[in-house]
Amino acid sequence: MKINIIGGGLAGLVSAYILAQKGHEICLIEKKKYPFHRVCGEYVSNETLRFLKDHQLFPEFANPSQINHFTLTLQNGQKLEMPLDLGAFGISRYVWDAFLAEKLKQMGVQVYEQNAVVDVQFEEDAFQLTLSSGKKLKSPIVIGAFGKKSLMDQKLNRTFAQSQSPFIGVKYHIRTDLPKNEIVLHNFKGGYCGLSAVENDKYNLCYLGRRKDLKKHGGISEMEQAVLCQNPYLKSVFENSDFLFNQPVVINAFSFAPKQLIENHMLMAGDAAGLITPLCGNGMAMAIHSAKILSECIIRHTKNDQVNRYALEMDYRQEWNVLFKKRLWVGRQTQKLFSTNLGAHTGMWLMQQVPFLARNVMKNTHGEPF
Ligand SMILES: Cc1cc2nc3c(=O)[nH]c(=O)nc-3n(C[C@H](O)[C@H](O)[C@H](O)COP(=O)(O)OP(=O)(O)OC[C@H]3O[C@@H](n4cnc5c(N)ncnc54)[C@H](O)[C@@H]3O)c2cc1C
Repeated sequence: MKINIIGGGLAGLVSAYILAQKGHEICLIEKKKYPFHRVCGEYVSNETLRFLKDHQLFPEFANPSQINHFTLTLQNGQKLEMPLDLGAFGISRYVWDAFLAEKLKQMGVQVYEQNAVVDVQFEEDAFQLTLSSGKKLKSPIVIGAFGKKSLMDQKLNRTFAQSQSPFIGVKYHIRTDLPKNEIVLHNFKGGYCGLSAVENDKYNLCYLGRRKDLKKHGGISEMEQAVLCQNPYLKSVFENSDFLFNQPVVINAFSFAPKQLIENHMLMAGDAAGLITPLCGNGMAMAIHSAKILSECIIRHTKNDQVNRYALEMDYRQEWNVLFKKRLWVGRQTQKLFSTNLGAHTGMWLMQQVPFLARNVMKNTHGEPF
């Protein structure tokens, strides 16, 4: 069956791979050109490992870092450290996404790069997509894998897209002095900054901040000096590391509000279905896992070029809710707690007194290996 996929991040790339393997005719439309950098902490939970290795999607060739230790620091210099039960690997999206896109091309998937979907219509039980090049694509099934913020949200009149989005995300690659097996979360007023190794002795420095702080201080580096560097550990990172980009990669104005999983029969995967707060380090695992369950539902409910749309939508909604709904909720509450100084201190104090609590937060924002 013909299936068009909007967005070539992990959710789009993995769905395209699973569906193409089963003989479906896939078009993947990505508005940028591979390879490219995107805002992401690039810390991938090991719950994905078995799936990635079984499907040869693990970027072994790039020698990803292995992460098994977590440190949290606060603005007042307090520090909490703990081992990670499951752990993670670190790989830049620049390398990984391009590797996956190349794999798809070799399998015969039509990958349209530098081509955005600018319009979508659903009529007579089929979708018609219009690309920025003017090309029209028709298919009975469309997967929306267009990430946390897209023109598509406006086109589909999605409710969360009408409200204020207070967050910004900023990413750099740097060279710095940090053990390669460690992920550090540095808290600052209104946000937090993650630091962990990726491939080739490089480190990812990625933070979630507030648009209002950017506005107040007039620029990214001014905000970093005035807000992030209030945390002494972060100040030292900014002063003693080599920053490898001329400019950071920035994403503006996105939100963690709940989203509709299916919009006018378009099936959402990854961040387009629901964005977990980066604090949890689980967005990529969720993007991969949602792509897997959605593709399996499509495979189950299509036969001889016919789709049982009702059963497909019911099945996907049920599986998605069981796997992700609670995780997103716990993520939002943890985000709220750590977005104020008082909340962050209380959270840290609680985790120091009752280490079980910290483990429990991690457990509830991560999934089981799949
Ligand atoms: C600050 C920050 C730090 C993070 N750190 C981590 C972390 O360390 N670990 C982790 O697991 N997760 C992290 N995440 C979350 C993670 O990046 C996402 O959950 C993950 O990338 C989601 O994948 P996706 O495929 O849904 O979306 P994306 O990877 O965002 O891909 C969506 C794609 O759709 C394309 N697109 C959009 N609109 C259109 C259109 N109209 N037409 C064609 N293409 C379109 C975009 O160009 C993009 O390539 C972080 C997020 C933020 C904001």
